Amino acid sequence: MNMAGFYDESISNGVGWRAVLFVSGCPHHCPGCHNVVAQDYNYGQKFDKQAIIDRICDNSILKGITISGGEPLCKENIPEVLDFIKEVKKVRPNFNVWCYTGYTLEQLEERKDDVTDETLKNIDVLVDGRFMEEKKNPTLKFKGSENQRILDIQECLREHKLVEYKV
Ligand code: SF4
Repeated sequence: MNMAGFYDESISNGVGWRAVLFVSGCPHHCPGCHNVVAQDYNYGQKFDKQAIIDRICDNSILKGITISGGEPLCKENIPEVLDFIKEVKKVRPNFNVWCYTGYTLEQLEERKDDVTDETLKNIDVLVDGRFMEEKKNPTLKFKGSENQRILDIQECLREHKLVEYKV
């Protein structure tokens, strides 16, 4: 997997101070995409898991990590994303994990795939759905278009229904 970018500290990619990893590669090709270069799986640099872990492990200001892209949950990226999340949780057990995806939660659940299911179990907040230019709304917090949802994924899995995360 390649990495398109990394922020050591951000407050605009989820609630609280967060590190943000942008992975490379996305199959969705949404018109109006905010990060066109990151659609290319070869863009950026090879993802160095340990180097990123080293950058977050001692930063006491951070409350969590956000994984964005690109598409973190496509079949090409999801195994390495899951492995990374697990490693992050070893060094920062209280970290809260946000993930942006162009897939909907329903599409991810329909995969019926162990890696996807385990990844969802390790994410706290899922911002789901493709960016839709016709539903773009710059006043929205932490998402780009009205169709996208900010989901409390653990509550969704527990209750078997959609539960929005209040921001
Ligand atoms: S899912 Fe995100 S990165 Fe992928 S094309 Fe759509 S807006 Fe761009």
